[in-house]
Amino acid sequence: MADKTKIKSVNHTQNLWIGCTKVSEGCKHCYAEAMDRYWRWTPDFQQLTRTKTWGQPANWQRAAKAREVEMVFGNSLSDFFHPRADQWRPEAWELIKRTPNLIWRLTTKRPELIADRLPNDWGDGYKNVWIGATVEMKKYLWRLDSLRDVPAVAHYLAAEPLLGDLTPELADHIHGIDWVMVGGESGAGFRPMDAQWARNIQNLCQDRRIAFWFNGHAGRHQGNTLLDGKSYQSYPAPLEDYKREVRVMKVSCRDNFKQETLAPAPSSEGLKTTREERKCL
Ligand code: SF4
Repeated sequence: MADKTKIKSVNHTQNLWIGCTKVSEGCKHCYAEAMDRYWRWTPDFQQLTRTKTWGQPANWQRAAKAREVEMVFGNSLSDFFHPRADQWRPEAWELIKRTPNLIWRLTTKRPELIADRLPNDWGDGYKNVWIGATVEMKKYLWRLDSLRDVPAVAHYLAAEPLLGDLTPELADHIHGIDWVMVGGESGAGFRPMDAQWARNIQNLCQDRRIAFWFNGHAGRHQGNTLLDGKSYQSYPAPLEDYKREVRVMKVSCRDNFKQETLAPAPSSEGLKTTREERKCL
């Protein structure tokens, strides 16, 4: 939601709605829920609330220069494919389509719901949308199989917060995945991440030539982003491919998207992202 996020792998975070319901162990310390409890953005986090900030992406699009792309973490305080957002998603797809200089990263713990929630003109995937699934433990590796069933220009794995070793089984699920991000949990009550778990994934990615990004070790303050003294911050090939294709498209969508909300809109100050966001999705 903030214009410039502190999350290193994206330029912006954008929340078209806020709120979610927990689905698995990775949700235990959901930062979005904690932030919402503190800032009181929504009347009921579990019910989801539409925000007033739908005009921001159009502003970023207008500011983008030809052949430049910026990365947006879509719905960092929710799950883009949560069924309670079905009423808003068609409009969100329109917005995404009209911001070609923004690459939208949509991360979900519900990849099995994606196929029924794609726009009619999705085809092989909008060129400015990457879709990713969170897998925090081995028992959720099936999410990668659901994800791969959905056509997209880039599929990624968000192994964050990593709560267990995903290998060796990950090797049987990683085909078709273009990018892998790994990170430990941060904040009070964080659960530890063995560095070897991250190392095992990095080794697999190296063997399979999959781009790898290490977001950091677990800790109350997730500060150390080096793995064995080395920084891993690689993007997948579709990013460079898209940079070659993209052109600035003039859009004036700000007025075309409803600005209503069901609750007081979060202030931009209140929505500044923090390191805590790395824990989620
Ligand atoms: S961690 Fe993500 S999927 Fe889980 S409740 Fe929070 S926002 Fe939803």
